[in-house]
Amino acid sequence: MSTRAVLRFVSWTSHPDRREDAPPVMHQMVCRTIGCPDRESEPDPDFEVVRDWSMKHSGRHPAHREFLETIVRPWRNDPPEGVVPA
Ligand SMILES: [Zn+2]
Repeated sequence: MSTRAVLRFVSWTSHPDRREDAPPVMHQMVCRTIGCPDRESEPDPDFEVVRDWSMKHSGRHPAHREFLETIVRPWRNDPPEGVVPA
């Protein structure tokens, strides 16, 4: 007796999840100055909010001018239309 598997290869798509119920894209700024006591903004869906945080941060700490922007984007992989994954 033998076991046989049937595999089906189909092309899935990988893309940002823009469905209405998907979580929003979130932005965050992180100060790159080592030892910074207040180094992260709160995450926010509005980029201008976190950019404003970085400008105020540089205003409070004039030597802190370099940041990392972190973007968290909902993502989704889908099979072709009409294909139901097992
Ligand atoms: Zn800083």
